[in-house]
Amino acid sequence: MVQHELPADARARTGVPVRTCVGCRKRELATDLLRVVVAGSGPEGSLVTPDLRRRLPGRGAWIHPDPECLSLAERRRAFGRALRVSGPLDISAVGLRVAAEAERSAPARDVESSTEPLEEKRHTQS
Ligand SMILES: [Zn+2]
Repeated sequence: MVQHELPADARARTGVPVRTCVGCRKRELATDLLRVVVAGSGPEGSLVTPDLRRRLPGRGAWIHPDPECLSLAERRRAFGRALRVSGPLDISAVGLRVAAEAERSAPARDVESSTEPLEEKRHTQS
């Protein structure tokens, strides 16, 4: 399997910081990841919300706006670890955001092939 090694290069080229996706653990440009933070607590637990402007204070976690990465992160409880919160998390807001992003970037594709359009998108966006 060929890995696309872009982080070091990409950082040199664009000056954009690189973060690690809490789902697939791949390093990625921060601009291509969704930042999430804990925004408070709700009835379901700590409220994890997307930080679209990447400006909210506090610890953030970074994830690809990809349903697969989201479910990976959920399964491994990576959000709790990255955000330093224990107990239940309500990530429904993040789920909605990821679903919206996925629909926008890959309208008529299977979830399985969702990494490919993201690779392409990265080049056209930078
Ligand atoms: Zn990922």
